[in-house]
Amino acid sequence: MNIGIVGLGLIGGSLGLDFRTLGHQVLGVSRKPQTCELALQRGAVDQASPDLALLSTAEIIFICTPLGAMQKTVQQLIPHLGTEAIVTDVGSVKASVADALHPLWPRFLGGHPMSGTEAAGIEAAQSQLFQGNAYVLTPMDETPIEIILIVETLVQSLGGTVYKCTPAEHDRAVAWISHLPAIASTTLIAACLTEPDADVLKLAQALASSGFRDTSRVGGGNPELTRMMAQYNRDALLQSLSAYRHTLDQLTQMIEQGDWDMLTAQCIQTQQVRPQFMLPP
Ligand code: NAP
Repeated sequence: MNIGIVGLGLIGGSLGLDFRTLGHQVLGVSRKPQTCELALQRGAVDQASPDLALLSTAEIIFICTPLGAMQKTVQQLIPHLGTEAIVTDVGSVKASVADALHPLWPRFLGGHPMSGTEAAGIEAAQSQLFQGNAYVLTPMDETPIEIILIVETLVQSLGGTVYKCTPAEHDRAVAWISHLPAIASTTLIAACLTEPDADVLKLAQALASSGFRDTSRVGGGNPELTRMMAQYNRDALLQSLSAYRHTLDQLTQMIEQGDWDMLTAQCIQTQQVRPQFMLPP
């Protein structure tokens, strides 16, 4: 296929690398000429330009910009699109994106690859990023079925497992497993910095090992991404944060009251249910 990608960063660049390996023709558009140049050098695109007119022959276009730039990007893209072109996006939030993009282009289908790293930019793009991971599609009632089938087939060719749900269901689910962890992990690192004794803080930093690495990883990731998640999935995130604060209060109370049996019971329960969040997609 003739595939267009707008926003040649971690996700856009990684899609380009895999689509080219699969034999597709990849046309890339990014804001900065040097990003286009790097994408060409890295083999993520066949052609690249800051000019959206490059995508006039694309059969499907993946919008891979930050969430805040998607609406404007699609508005600017529309004059260059063929009538049959499909537009999809990779944004980490779906309801606000669907509300903004669906009215602009009837052949739009929202998507979200559940893949990423803490790095950003075309330098961070990597092959097989989507292999073995979930990829959510959020069709609306009026989304043409052939579009869903085309995007689904492309996602499966990347090694992704397709899940379909409404944009609102997506946003509630990812608030729990992606956006709440990003805030909790940020809070964890920020709380450590409140240690008043500089020597103790230095010692803690020296002693930090796999446990801290695992629990702090997403809090040390791309700040722009976390900000956009919070901004565009605010309601669902606030609901999950409220439940998190309540649970933290309950555990704090158990520790204050020395209720070690209750604390153990809670930890046994979480130990038992954690594997249910680690199932292969
Ligand atoms: P990224 O590495 O920062 O890449 C985004 C690219 O978009 C940048 O390389 C930049 O290219 C371009 N861009 C930045 N601001 C722009 C603007 N105002 N207008 C047009 N283009 C702009 O970010 P990413 O991690 O790939 O994320 C891209 C999208 O994927 C986001 O919507 C995010 O929600 C979603 N997503 C991310 C992850 C993840 O873990 N990272 C996972 C799933 C989905 P230039 O250098 O040319 O400016």
